[in-house]
Amino acid sequence: MNILDKLARGIVTSQAEETIEIARNLATVLPEEAVLALEGDLGAGKTTFVKGLAERWRIQEPITSPTFNIYNLYQGDRQLAHMDAYRLEKSPEIWEELMLEELIAPPFCLAIEWPSKLAFIPWTITHTLRFDARGDERKITLIS
Ligand code: ADP
Ligand code: MG
Repeated sequence: MNILDKLARGIVTSQAEETIEIARNLATVLPEEAVLALEGDLGAGKTTFVKGLAERWRIQEPITSPTFNIYNLYQGDRQLAHMDAYRLEKSPEIWEELMLEELIAPPFCLAIEWPSKLAFIPWTITHTLRFDARGDERKITLIS
């Protein structure tokens, strides 16, 4: 079964390394302009997942949560923009302030934590993934 079919059924993991491996696999099937909406509560594994994307594109810098600076931009085999919208207030003007549209060019992947905090997203969302934490278990489900 391919990674998208597996994710659509939901994948339960018990270690962060498994989440990273899933992201590495998904990264191989993404289009050149990929936008991932990562939904789920704090600690559910969204940032851990982005670490796997970064590994696939041979990004050397460590991936750290961009909660305070809204997004971090990395360059490897493709550009990776890692956004955390948690602190945003659904302002439609936010994209002009962020200047991301000027900075990003294909092949890229924009991974957005807390997409529900955005009034809109100026790209088509490639996939929406739902992250759930239950005790020590984590579950990743492809919503669309
Ligand atoms: P989020 O970005 O959703 O707030 P993080 O990825 O920053 O979540 O944090 C998830 C935490 O849970 C990390 O400390 C990670 O090591 C831990 N963890 C434990 N098991 C898993 C797992 N199966 N998948 C992802 N993270 C896990
Ligand atoms: Mg996070």
